[in-house]
Amino acid sequence: MRHVLPGTTAAKGMALGRARLVQPSRYHVDTRPLAEDEVDAELALLHRALETARQELRELRGKLHGALAREVNEFIDAHSLLLDDPELLRGLDDLVRIGHYRPGAALKKQRDRLAAVFEAMDDPYLRSRKEDVDQVINRVISALQRQTSREERKLAARVGEILIADTIAPADMAHLAGSGLLGVVASSGSAYSHSAILARSLDLPMLVGVRDALSSIHDDDLILLDSERGEAVVHPTAQDLARYRTWQREAAQEGRRLATLANAPTRTSDGADIRLLANAEMPPDIAMARARGADGVGLYRTEFLFLRQKGLPTEDEQFIAYRDLVLGMGGLPVTIRTLDLGADKADAAGLVLRGEDNPALGVRGVRLSLRYPAVFTTQIRAILRAACYGPVRVLVPMVTQPDELIAVRTLFKLARQELKRENVDLPEKLALGAMIEVPAAAINVRALLEHADFLAIGTNDLAQYVLAADRSNDALDNIYNPLQPALLRLLSYVIGEGRRAKKSVSLCGEIGGDINFTSLLLALGLNEFSMHPSQLLHVRDRIAALDRSVLRAAAPRLLRSRTHEEAEALLAQITC
Ligand code: PEP
Ligand code: MG
Repeated sequence: MRHVLPGTTAAKGMALGRARLVQPSRYHVDTRPLAEDEVDAELALLHRALETARQELRELRGKLHGALAREVNEFIDAHSLLLDDPELLRGLDDLVRIGHYRPGAALKKQRDRLAAVFEAMDDPYLRSRKEDVDQVINRVISALQRQTSREERKLAARVGEILIADTIAPADMAHLAGSGLLGVVASSGSAYSHSAILARSLDLPMLVGVRDALSSIHDDDLILLDSERGEAVVHPTAQDLARYRTWQREAAQEGRRLATLANAPTRTSDGADIRLLANAEMPPDIAMARARGADGVGLYRTEFLFLRQKGLPTEDEQFIAYRDLVLGMGGLPVTIRTLDLGADKADAAGLVLRGEDNPALGVRGVRLSLRYPAVFTTQIRAILRAACYGPVRVLVPMVTQPDELIAVRTLFKLARQELKRENVDLPEKLALGAMIEVPAAAINVRALLEHADFLAIGTNDLAQYVLAADRSNDALDNIYNPLQPALLRLLSYVIGEGRRAKKSVSLCGEIGGDINFTSLLLALGLNEFSMHPSQLLHVRDRIAALDRSVLRAAAPRLLRSRTHEEAEALLAQITC
């Protein structure tokens, strides 16, 4: 019988497929001891499961991009290191070979042992690693069960399926999207969660808060996931299917229409030209930025070079990555952000200080770089060498006060002198910019503008610090809202001060690429947007439909809003 389950749209779109229920995981571990002649075969199963888990993590990494990718990649790096940990592996082998544990029981035993060790630690960072151990071991157990149980194997093949779950972790979502998953119906969760953000960037329709999903949908039920309307239709009728086909036709047409915008200028309906830049990390981002007509790269995150390997990347490794970026953009300007490690972005090389009580308020971004001048200088030298191949600007993250910019300039000067002595080609003077993501930097922006050649506003962090709300804590959705009046006033102030100083101001937080905020940012006077390249055409299309002078005229009213709800209502009014 057809029935409709309402939910909240987390990622738009529609999908038709079979339901695949994932109940909160339960592992049945067989505790019977192994017979001597079973040991070799079971060890082989264990090693295969470990390899599958490693492979899953490698695949996951390739599919992610943008700010979220960096966060997810941190888990992936930590988990990959654990999976290769010689002590963990030796312990597992010994349990099977000597203790005659079955692989599942050996994994569980090792998990309990390590958990006890981590739990006993005083250092809160190390204590929190227990969770990583749990997740890694669970991944291996799950891979093991897929080898041995038919039911799990069926679950692994998700082509043409819609996942029905309580919640889904971002890493699993990325993995499943690569194996043909069509959409997700979650019984809990929020539209601001990392999984939801990831679903949007993977183009995977997703509904959250579908309360009875797990009790009223069964495996293999046909589901029409309609994230346009915000509902999941169980056993859709011919009429529902006709609606789906219409949507498919229209979506394909829309895709073709957007593709024609790749070479179009970015212009508002009243003729104001806007610059669209790309946020990039990996070579595919750069290719996409070119293909979609970006005016340059507004944010190149260099952390990934440091997060992907155990040691520090050498000057040459960095030089090659930056040079390829510059060459890839074919003469368009590229903004390379210096290392932004710290807080939750812990590197494998051990630069990041462990055990800070408040790492988000600790030694991160430029604060960390300045603590390690030799490491920073290696990066600076690589940037200077790459800048001989095309126009480069340098962006400094987490700036709080002018002396940080002054110190970075001094290091650039010294690195130039060093390279000159070595007879290395040098570029013209590079523009040095400050990211505005610390409230003090925004409020004292005039002082920074005396030392910065340009500004880039990082609203992901600026919102977190202005609102004292962790950007990755879904429980704070009602506070972490880009329309909070305090944030709007600060944005307007920074953009205005940049204009007064005749210096360029771009915005490279997630809202820069979200068409729900395009009118707001135009109203606040922004004319340089930087975003993940997948959003370029959507934002260009949105801008073409907006009248900047009307929006600018409404800015004073927006800035008088007292709540984010009020700002939202007003924005809806002035946008339509
Ligand atoms: C930001 O904080 O808005 C930003 C773009 O930087 P990241 O997301 O890399 O911290
Ligand atoms: Mg930031």
